Amino acid sequence: MEDHKSRFINGKELRPESLMMSYGYDPMLSEGAVKPPIFQTSTFVFKSAEEGKAFFELAYGLREPGPSEKPGLIYSRLNNPDLELLEDRLTLWDGAEASAVFQSGMAAIATSLLAFVRPGDFIVHSEPLYGGSDHLIKHILKEFGVIPVAFTAGLPVSDVVESVRDRVAGGHVGAVLIETPANPTNALVDIAGVASMTRSLGREDDRPVLMVDNTFLGPLWQHPLKHGADLVLYSATKFIGGHSDVIAGACVGSAEIVAKVKNLRTFLGTMAGPWTGWLLLRSLETLKMRMTAQMKNARYVADFLNDHPKVVSVRYLALLDEASQMFEVYRRQCASPGSVVAFVVEGGEAGAFRFLNALQLFKLAVSLGGTESLAEHPAAMTHADIPPADRARMGIEAGMVRLSIGVEHFADILADLGQALEAV
Ligand SMILES: *Cc1c(COP(=O)(O)O)cnc(C)c1O
Repeated sequence: MEDHKSRFINGKELRPESLMMSYGYDPMLSEGAVKPPIFQTSTFVFKSAEEGKAFFELAYGLREPGPSEKPGLIYSRLNNPDLELLEDRLTLWDGAEASAVFQSGMAAIATSLLAFVRPGDFIVHSEPLYGGSDHLIKHILKEFGVIPVAFTAGLPVSDVVESVRDRVAGGHVGAVLIETPANPTNALVDIAGVASMTRSLGREDDRPVLMVDNTFLGPLWQHPLKHGADLVLYSATKFIGGHSDVIAGACVGSAEIVAKVKNLRTFLGTMAGPWTGWLLLRSLETLKMRMTAQMKNARYVADFLNDHPKVVSVRYLALLDEASQMFEVYRRQCASPGSVVAFVVEGGEAGAFRFLNALQLFKLAVSLGGTESLAEHPAAMTHADIPPADRARMGIEAGMVRLSIGVEHFADILADLGQALEAV
């Protein structure tokens, strides 16, 4: 390919998985190396004082870039080739204009919220949220005068819109944050429905920013920007990294919104380092293969659990009742059920603990999206911070176990689950 950012062959657009090995990288800038090197450097040499001046003018927004002018490399807190390549490639899956990479999913979420929310503002959010996001909003941002307004995931937006509008009446909503499918219950939030609610919560020229935590199904199987979201957030620690060996985060969206987030990232210093960027570039090459293998295994797991006498209920998107409103949302915004399966086992917490302690192939660990299968107990672990009454409302039961399904052979996964259920 002539242009290292070309996405077409004979006018036909290439799919993201075909571009993950090449997009944005010119081997001739790196001695012909097929793979981008790790640019393990804090700072970059300017060719001349004039060039350094021009780079800073763009970095500080002192003037508009010229027609073919690109931001120059200055210092690795602002930009670094490994991060730039990664950001270019991440935009492709979601069809986004721009992307920013962070040292963790929480860094991406915190930096994005701080870019758009000010003291006295409301943050409207779905529940349940990832435990860290929940704590950030309800405890830390609250100390800065930001007021959380929650609505329950899994309810039709038409059922919650009036109560949300009442609770923010007369105030200013800085951001709306939703997570779908929700962790750990797989409850869905209707992105297009919330986008239209978000528009009604501000003035034409001052709309709240709708952010969607897309960690569970993205970037492959759910594209929130196409349903009206403004910013898509990722814990890249999960599927994007995919090997449980790196902590990272990302956001993607319009050039305008991502520029605001990147500006704050520069001053908070929440960017990722070059090593992290390089690891994620490597991971992206196999993203589709891994996620597809994990999803196929998860379908077997969900069916197996659904038929098992010691299992009370299974929360998995492929098992949604086709007559339900959630199924309609699923059909509209998700291209696959993914590979996170939650289920409730007989015997409450004691039953769940007996199951977890008996697992042999599955590791008992939090996190998800890696090549290995993991199991954890949301009520006692990832969601322990949430008061029991709130947990009950969100559907996080004492007997609930969350599984992240890996790439092992499905028969071995089922054998381990079967023997551990015998111990319940
Ligand atoms: C893990 C996770 C996060 C936080 O990401 P880190 O990389 O651990 O900081 C945020 N949202 C969801 C849905 C997650 O699963």
